Formats: sequence, structure tokens, C-alpha cells
Amino acid sequence: MDLASYIRNIPDFPRKGVQFKDITTLLKNKEAFRYAMDSLATLLEPKQADIVVGIEARGFIIGAPLAYLLGCGFVPVRKKGKLPAETVSKSYQLEYGVSVLEVHKDAIEPGQKVLIVDDLLATGGTTKAVCELVEELGGNIVGIGFVIELEFLKGREKLQPYQIYSLVKL
Ligand code: IMP
Repeated sequence: MDLASYIRNIPDFPRKGVQFKDITTLLKNKEAFRYAMDSLATLLEPKQADIVVGIEARGFIIGAPLAYLLGCGFVPVRKKGKLPAETVSKSYQLEYGVSVLEVHKDAIEPGQKVLIVDDLLATGGTTKAVCELVEELGGNIVGIGFVIELEFLKGREKLQPYQIYSLVKL
């Protein structure tokens, strides 16, 4: 299946000059969504992970069914102030300004094998911050998965030495 054909391009969103990749058109199609999830599960199953970490918000849509398919637990990484128990947090640079991501302190046990997933890899800044959070908790990152990778932004290089998997390269 040509998954790329289910991804919609929105020019000038959220700002002028940005070509936003919209996955809602993929998600709403039953065959495409199932194919995307099954393909990610097939790619990542050999990692024998314990935990899938999903990044708010679209990473939850991908991460939870992936965890279910792989027989893993699911851990949400959320924006500041959303998680109710004790957290560790990491601030990271956005194009304009700074943002903060958090995870529960007891979400991952030291040595657990962790997959990190999100909908899209752009510069890699968001995922890098999540890698730091996971490692701060003692998690062992065994792979990072995306539906879409924007290759021209070279996020893969920023995420060295982790193993990166993506379904659609644009
Ligand atoms: P990065 O930190 O530059 O790699 O940006 C990746 C983060 O921004 C991910 O959490 C994505 O969900 C979001 N993102 C950036 N560009 C797009 C896009 O074109 N479509 C959907 N999400 C995007």
C-alpha cells in the first residue's frame, strides 16, 4: 500500500512557509491505519521491547495501538503540567521559544527496553528531549519509530546513535 498517498499536505500551517503533513487523512481510512500500525509492529517487533513511549499528542494515537500489538506497556510523555504524579522534565528548543516535556518518575524501571514513537520526525529536537528523559529514568532505548520522516531536516543525524525506523520518507 502507498501510505504516502494518504498523507495530506497543508501549505502555510501553522505558519506561512510551513508544509504541514496531516495524518488525519491516513488515520480515518480503515485499511491505511491498520496497514500503518501492522507495518510499524512488524518493523519493531524484533526489538522485544517492554515499553512503548508515545509523545503528546499524535504520538499517543500511534503509540497506544503499537504497544497493544507488541504486547508492551504504554507510557505517555506529556507537555508540562498535565501528568498528575511526580515527574521528571526536560526543556527543549522549538523554532520559536522553548517547550517542556514530562514523564512520570516511576513510568520506566531501570533496564527496561523502550521504544519511542511519534507521528513525524522533523528536526529531531522533540524526540531527542524524550530520549534524555527515558535515559534519566534508566530506560534502555532499543528503537525509535515514526510514521513520517522529513529526510531533508536530517533529524536522523541528531538522533544518533539510536536506531530509527520510519514508514514514509518525504
Ligand atoms: P521535531 O522536534 O522538529 O522533530 O518536530 C517533530 C514534532 O513536531 C513531532 O511531535 C510532530 O508531531 C510535530 N510536527 C512537526 N512538523 C509536523 C508536520 O508537518 N505534521 C505533523 N506534525 C509535525
